[in-house]
Amino acid sequence: MPDVGSGRPESDRGRSCTVRSDFRSPSRPTVSAAAAPHYDVILIGAGPAGAACALALRHSGLRVALVDKARFPRDKVCGDAIPGPALKALRRLSEDFYQELRARTPRADTQISRLVAPDGGQARVQWQLPTFSSPRLHFDHHLLNLVRRHTATHILENYAVRDVHTTTDHATVVPADGSTPLTAALIIGCDGANSVVARKLLPRPLDRRYHCAAVRAYYRGIAGTDEHRTEFFFLKEYLAGYLWIFPVGDGTCNVGFGMVSDQIAAAQVNLKDTMLALLAQHPELAPRFAGAEQLTPIVGFGLPLGGTPRPLTGPRFLLCGDAAALIDPLQGHGIDTAMQSGILAAAQVERCFRAQNFSAEYLRHYEQQVQAQIGRRLARSYRLMRFLADKPWVVNVGCRLARQPLIKKWLLKLVG
Ligand SMILES: Cc1cc2nc3c(=O)[nH]c(=O)nc-3n(C[C@H](O)[C@H](O)[C@H](O)COP(=O)(O)OP(=O)(O)OC[C@H]3O[C@@H](n4cnc5c(N)ncnc54)[C@H](O)[C@@H]3O)c2cc1C
Repeated sequence: MPDVGSGRPESDRGRSCTVRSDFRSPSRPTVSAAAAPHYDVILIGAGPAGAACALALRHSGLRVALVDKARFPRDKVCGDAIPGPALKALRRLSEDFYQELRARTPRADTQISRLVAPDGGQARVQWQLPTFSSPRLHFDHHLLNLVRRHTATHILENYAVRDVHTTTDHATVVPADGSTPLTAALIIGCDGANSVVARKLLPRPLDRRYHCAAVRAYYRGIAGTDEHRTEFFFLKEYLAGYLWIFPVGDGTCNVGFGMVSDQIAAAQVNLKDTMLALLAQHPELAPRFAGAEQLTPIVGFGLPLGGTPRPLTGPRFLLCGDAAALIDPLQGHGIDTAMQSGILAAAQVERCFRAQNFSAEYLRHYEQQVQAQIGRRLARSYRLMRFLADKPWVVNVGCRLARQPLIKKWLLKLVG
C-alpha cells in the first residue's frame, strides 16, 4: 500500500482543502467509501518539477495529489549543482520557502566555477545568483518537506504509476501494485527522464541527438578542492561533454562525466571506464585523485535534452521537467527548468479550472509559455553545444579570452 505523507491525519484526507467553487469541476464524480478519491490534479513525480508545481498551487484551493514511486529521502543520480535560477524560482514563490530550504539543506555554497580547457588553460567564473550544491538525497527531501508543511497536497509515496489514460471527462492514474486507480480532472507528468506519462500519452522514439548520458560517484579526499568552487574539465576527445567535480559539503565531492548519446554511440564510449581512466591518467586529475576515496559505486542515468520544440500537452495532461525534455544541452542542468516548468504548469492548471476547459487546444498555451520562457534559450544552447563539439580549439581560445572581464561577460551571456 502507498504511504500517505501529507503530514495530516488519515481521517483528514480530502477534507481540509477548501476548493474554491469557481474552480471546481461540475462533472466531478461522486466519491464512494470504497472508491479511490478523485482529485482535481494529480502530479506524478515528486522531484523538483512536481514539488515546485505543488508549491505554486498552494493557494489554488484545488485538491492536489503528488505521487512518487520512491519514499523520500531518495537518491537521484545527478551532479547535485542546484542552479541559481532554480533558487530564484523558489524565491519568487516565497522568500520563506527559500530561507527554510537553505536553513535545512546540507550543502556547499558555490561562489566560483573553474573551467579547464582541453589544452589545460583555465577560466574562472564568479556566479551572480546565489547557488549551491547539495546531494539530491537531501535537496529533494527538503523541497518536498516544503510541500508537506505549506500546502494541503496529499503526498503518496511508494506509489509507482504503471499506466495513465485520459477520456474527455477525466484522467486515470493506474498504480503498479494493482490497487484502485486514482482519477483527476488533470494529470501532470513530472516523472523524470523515463516518464510513464510521456511514454503512454506522447510516445516518441529516442533521438540520441537530443539525449545525453552521464555517470557519477561520490569521493572524499580529492586534493586541491575548494568547498566554494565547482570544476569543469573539457577534454578534446569527449567534447561537448565534460567531467565535473562539485563539492557537496562535508569534504565530499560529486564527480561525474557525461556526453551526448549520439557521440557515445558513434565513438563506442564506455562512460564508467572513461571516467575512471581520466581520473587515473589526466595530467591534473591523476595526482589529485591519487589519495582520494571513492565512497559510492559509479552510477549513470539519462538526460533528455531540450533544444527542439516538442508537444508537451494533450487532453487533460501536461508534462514538466525531464518528462518534457528541458535539460540545458550545453551545461546539462535541468533542476532549474524543472522548477520553472512546474510553476508554469501550475498557472496553466488554474487557468484550466477557471475556464473549465481541459482540452488539448486550451492546454497548448502552456506549451507556448514553456517555449517562450525556456525552449528558445535551450535551442540556442543546443546550437552552441553542437558548434563546440568538434572544435576544441574554440574552447581553448574561449577559456583564454575569458580572462578579460568584458569578453567573459559576453561569453557568459552567450552560454546563459
Ligand atoms: C548524471 C546527471 C547529472 C546531472 N547534473 C545536474 C546538475 O548538476 N544540476 C542540474 O540542475 N541538473 C542536473 N541533472 C539533471 C537533473 O537531474 C534533472 O533535470 C532533474 O532532476 C529534473 O527534475 P524532475 O523533477 O523533472 O525529475 P526527477 O528529479 O527525475 O524526479 C522525477 C520523480 O518521479 C518519480 N517517478 C518516476 N517514475 C515514476 C512512476 N512511474 N511512478 C511514480 N513516480 C515516478 C521519481 O521517483 C522521481 O522522484 C543531471 C542529470 C544526470 C543524469
